[in-house]
Amino acid sequence: RIALEGITKNFGNVEVIHGIDLEIGEGELVVFVGPSGCGKSTLLRLIAGLDQPTTGSIRIDGKDVTRVSAADRGLAMVFQSYALYPHMTVRQNLSFGLENTRMPKPEIASRIDEAGRMLEIGDLMERRPTQLSGGQRQRVAIGRAIVRNPSAFLLDEPLSNLDAELRGTMRAELARLHERLGTTMIYVTHDQVEAMTLADRIVVLRKGIVEQVDTPLGLYNRPQNLFVAGFIGAPN
Ligand code: ATP
Ligand code: MG
Repeated sequence: RIALEGITKNFGNVEVIHGIDLEIGEGELVVFVGPSGCGKSTLLRLIAGLDQPTTGSIRIDGKDVTRVSAADRGLAMVFQSYALYPHMTVRQNLSFGLENTRMPKPEIASRIDEAGRMLEIGDLMERRPTQLSGGQRQRVAIGRAIVRNPSAFLLDEPLSNLDAELRGTMRAELARLHERLGTTMIYVTHDQVEAMTLADRIVVLRKGIVEQVDTPLGLYNRPQNLFVAGFIGAPN
């Protein structure tokens, strides 16, 4: 369970997150939506521990992690840009960082095999990222998160670099992955269709505040205001 309490974030003297409270349940798939610049990535980075909130606290399973480093939070982030290491093979990209933990080598190898099967990238292990298609790179980026066996996946517009068809395929694959692993996912997108089809609950953000949190159906049927209605494409 991830709990945010009174989160604000300043860049210099500009406040971009204005006091957000939010609870995300174990195994939930929560989608953050909202227009460009509303603070989706910033909020995700704060949860990941890649940046510190100005005020407020973040708890994971009851433990205050506000000042805990990203590496020690047990979460895994997937970025829009894939962020793969170009000079490493797929296998090396997947195992990178795990060698420095106490995890035994055979355990690392079996996790990579498992992720390879799950994502159908088993045949690509010795290739480098430049020798992969966009969809394959995206799978490797997701695989890199999976092998870490995180308590939650944080995904920042993971499909926005893909064409519409591949995006649809990958969206379905992510939904299946979530069903199969049952791991908490926080998914950032500005694509309403993606939000409505994937989410257990949707968090609608606007200018650094939460406008509404509800299930896709709840948002559609009971948008709290015109902004939410407009954004979700609901009648009002
Ligand atoms: P997009 O959909 O375009 O990715 P977003 O909702 O992810 O947008 P953020 O990247 O979280 O938006 O940015 C929120 C606000 O904070 C924006 O006004 C942005 O300009 C500002 N911001 C983000 N990062 C920084 C930074 N490192 N320094 C200063 N301002 C920043
Ligand atoms: Mg963003």
